[in-house]
Amino acid sequence: MDPFADTLQRLREAFVSGRTRPAEFRDAQLKGLSRFLRENKQLLQEALAQDLHKSAFEAEVSEISISQNEINLALRNLRTWMKDEKVSKNLATQLDSAFIRKEPFGLVLILSPWNYPLNLSLGPLVGALAAGNCVVLKPSEISKNTEKVLAEVLPRYLDQVSQARCRPGSHTGAEQGQAGPLGPGQDLSSDLLWVVWPWPGHQLLCSPLRETEGWGLSPGAPCLSLVILTSVPTPTLPDPNLTRAELVLPLSSAPGALPAPHPAQLEPWHNWVRPGKGGAAPGRQAARWALRLGPQREPPFVHPPSQSCFAVVLGGPQETGRLLEHKFDYIFFTGNPQVGKIVMTAAAKHLTPVTLELGGKNPCYVDDNCDPQTVANRVAFFRCFNAGQTCVAPDYVLCSPEMQAQLVPALQSAITRFYGDDPQSSPNLGRIISQKHFQRLRGLLSCGRVVIGGQSDECDLYIAPTVLVDVQETDPVMQEEIFGPILPIVNVRSLGQAIDFINRREKPLALYAFSNSSQVVKRVLAQTSSGGFCGNDGFMHLTLASLPFGGVGSSGMGNYHGKFSFDTFSHHRACLLRRPGLEKIYAIRYPPHTPRNLRV
Ligand code: NAD
Repeated sequence: MDPFADTLQRLREAFVSGRTRPAEFRDAQLKGLSRFLRENKQLLQEALAQDLHKSAFEAEVSEISISQNEINLALRNLRTWMKDEKVSKNLATQLDSAFIRKEPFGLVLILSPWNYPLNLSLGPLVGALAAGNCVVLKPSEISKNTEKVLAEVLPRYLDQVSQARCRPGSHTGAEQGQAGPLGPGQDLSSDLLWVVWPWPGHQLLCSPLRETEGWGLSPGAPCLSLVILTSVPTPTLPDPNLTRAELVLPLSSAPGALPAPHPAQLEPWHNWVRPGKGGAAPGRQAARWALRLGPQREPPFVHPPSQSCFAVVLGGPQETGRLLEHKFDYIFFTGNPQVGKIVMTAAAKHLTPVTLELGGKNPCYVDDNCDPQTVANRVAFFRCFNAGQTCVAPDYVLCSPEMQAQLVPALQSAITRFYGDDPQSSPNLGRIISQKHFQRLRGLLSCGRVVIGGQSDECDLYIAPTVLVDVQETDPVMQEEIFGPILPIVNVRSLGQAIDFINRREKPLALYAFSNSSQVVKRVLAQTSSGGFCGNDGFMHLTLASLPFGGVGSSGMGNYHGKFSFDTFSHHRACLLRRPGLEKIYAIRYPPHTPRNLRV
C-alpha cells in the first residue's frame, strides 16, 4: 500500500480548487506560521536543545528569529510580489497588454536536513506558501525532537481552513464528506474558517479572524450569512473585545444566478465590522454586503485542522524514496550532495524542477596582511557555531606558514574566551547530532597534527573545538565536508596558489577571504566561484534577505530567501493579452507574403 497516495491526492485536489491562490489565504498561512513560532518558542528551544544541544542564543538567532524575519518580510511584501509585472513591448505588440504573472507551481515537496531543522523547514515553507502552493514538508528524521514539533504542532497553525460542507435540513454540525452545491434555504454549519464562495472560481477567506463558528443560509431567508467567532479578542477589530460578528450577504435569487464578485472585492472581514451598528457597511460593496454584530457567545470548540493544503510527512531515506516516486510540481531539497543526486534523479523521471541546497567545503583564505586575533575570533565563532554543523561554515583555512604561526595562538585564545578552559561544560557549544557523525568526525581527528583541542566523548557526542596543522591536500579531512568543530589549516605560499587551490576543487557554497587589503579580497572574489561570498567575516551574507542564498555547481542549484523564495516557488508565466479586433492591422502577417509585407 502506498502510504502517501491519499495525502497527495487531497493536496492536489485542494490546489486545483484554487483555495491557495488568493492573497488572503496566503496571508493567513504566513500569519499562522508566525503564531506557531511565537506561541511555541519554548517548546522549539527545548527540542533544538535536545537534538543539538543548541543554546538559547543559537536557537534564537539561527532558527527562530531568522524564520520570523522571513515571515515578516513576506507578509509585508506579499501583495507587491504577487502583482503582475509589466514588461516592455515591441512594435508588433504596442496595443497589447504584456506582463509576467507569478503563479504557484502546485504541489511542492520540501525535504529538510537536521542541522537547522526549524529554519531550513520554515524558510522554504514561507516561500512556498507565499507563492500559493500546496506543500508537503518532510523534516529530517535525525533531529527527531524538532521533527515531532513540526509534525504535531505546526499543522494546527496552518490550513485551519477548508471547504465548508453543506448539509441540508439542519442548523448544527457539519458532516464531513457531504459537500454539495449551495442554495437558498439550505443550512450550513461547519467548524471551518475557510468558506467556499458559492460562485465558481471565486473564494472568500475570512482572514484575519482565526476561527469561525459556522456559516449558512438562514432557512427561508434570502441571504447568505457567515458567523465568525474568535477565541481571542482580536486587535484587528475596531472593538478589541468583540469576539463574534455576523456577515450577511443578501441574495436576491439562487447564488448561482448572482454575478460573481471580483476577487479584489473580497477584502478582509475586519473592513466590514462596525461595532454597535447594524445595517449596511459603508463603502463600495454597501449595496451587496451588510454586517450585523451579534451578542457574545461561548468560546468556540477546538477545531480539528482539515489539512487539505499542507501536510507534514515523516520518514527516513526509505520512506523518502517512496515519496519521491510521486509526481510533484516542485521539489526543494536541502541536504548533502549525494542525496541531492538521488532527489534530482527521482525528479527527472517526472521532469519536476528542483532547487538543491547542498553542501561542500568552504575555503577561508587568510592573507598575511590582517589582524590575526580579529580573524581568529571570527573564524572560530563561525566554525564552532552549531558545533560546526553549518553548511556555510568555514571548512578549512588557507594561509602562509607565517600567518599560521600567529593564527594558532589567536584561535586558542578565541576558543578559550568563547567556551572556557573546558568547552565540554560550556552551555554555548553544541553537540554532534548522532553516533554516525560522531564516529566520522573522530576519524578526522587523526589527520595532520592537532594543535588545539582534539578531545572527544562518545557518550556526550562531544568533539572539542579542534585545529589541525600540517594537513595534506590528500588527507581525508580535505576530501569531505567536515561538518563539525574541526578546522584544518593548509599552507599556501601566495594568494595565487590559494586561488588555484580553490579553483581545482568543486565550487563551494560559501567562500571567505580575510585581508586588510580590499584589493586582495576583490581578487579572490573575481578569480573564484562560489554560491556566496563574504569578505572579512563568516556567513553574515546569508542574514540578508536581499541576497539570494544558494549554491553553484556541486554546492547546489537555485536559491531562496526573501523575494527570491517567492520567485523560486512561482512559475513566471509570460502573458500577452490582445484585443479581439483590429484585424486589419494584424492581417499584414498572413500569407500570401508580398514585398510590401516584407518591408514592414
Ligand atoms: P541529508 O541529505 O542526509 O538529508 C536531507 C533530507 O534528505 C532529510 O530529510 C533526509 O531524510 C532525506 N534523505 C536522506 N537520505 C536520503 C535518501 N537516500 N533518499 C531520499 N531521501 C534521503 O542531509 P543532512 O545530513 O540532513 O544534512 C547535512 C547536509 O546538508 C550537509 O551536506 C550540509 O552541507 C547540507 N546542508 C546544506 C544547506 C544549504 O542550505 N545549502 C543547509 C543545511 C545543510
